[in-house]
Amino acid sequence: MLKGKSAVVTGASRGIGRAIALELASQGANVAVNYAGSEERAQQVVEEIEQLGVKALKIQADVANESEVKEMIKKVTEEFGGLDILVNNAGITRDNLLMRMKEEEFDQVINTNLKGVFVCTKAVTRQMMKQKAGKIINVASIVGVAGNAGQANYVAAKAGVIGLTKTTAKELASRNILVNAVAPGFIATDMTDKLTEEQKKGMLDVIPLGKLGKPEDVAKVVRFLASDDSNYMTGQTIHIDGGMVM
Ligand code: NAD
Repeated sequence: MLKGKSAVVTGASRGIGRAIALELASQGANVAVNYAGSEERAQQVVEEIEQLGVKALKIQADVANESEVKEMIKKVTEEFGGLDILVNNAGITRDNLLMRMKEEEFDQVINTNLKGVFVCTKAVTRQMMKQKAGKIINVASIVGVAGNAGQANYVAAKAGVIGLTKTTAKELASRNILVNAVAPGFIATDMTDKLTEEQKKGMLDVIPLGKLGKPEDVAKVVRFLASDDSNYMTGQTIHIDGGMVM
């Protein structure tokens, strides 16, 4: 499905990003594993990708740092001979009720989760314009659609990502660069592991399918958006949430 394509997945050393990186590689894409945290985990993902018979690159870069991101994109393009797919997956949470949320908690989340998408998108655009083709997939969240108490920073960022998806889709459509988003619901990863048992039960109560999602559930939809099967779709946000928000 993606044979010969090259992809960058941000925040790919674990969780949803890791699953996306492996899914794209399983379809024949060469994949760059961007990471900001543990190099060891990123290295493991690189080895898993190589076992699938495609090329992998491990690249440390903070998605919100323009010079690091530019350097990353340059390296990927040189090593893989082009760049066809960007998955903006990196994200953090700093949850707190509005009255207790510190300014730096707001800024950190907006920086990584929203500015990071802008910076990475801008960095790949020139190369994709040259190739007259590209697929950009942003990992938003269902809370960016529905809101969520205790996550003013995160919700504002994810709602911003949905808006950025639409506006970049409109701006880049004439260059055949397609931009879509996925909005996962409650997916079992390190990020959701931080929640209390009571919070987890509360989430399960509002999911019609009655179970948490797996990183692979998100990865398969991203694979569809990265492939030619979605060539007449742009500016869309697909909910992957067990029916939570409809
Ligand atoms: P995770 O915490 O397991 O993974 C996030 C990854 O992003 C980590 O590898 C981390 O190192 C990386 N990262 C953080 N800051 C970075 C930066 N500045 N530069 C580069 N990489 C950075 O979380 P996850 O659950 O796998 O989340 C992945 C994405 O999915 C995030 O955007 C998250 O907001 C979104 N999401 C998750 C859920 C869920 O239920 N888990 C639901 C909706 C949306």
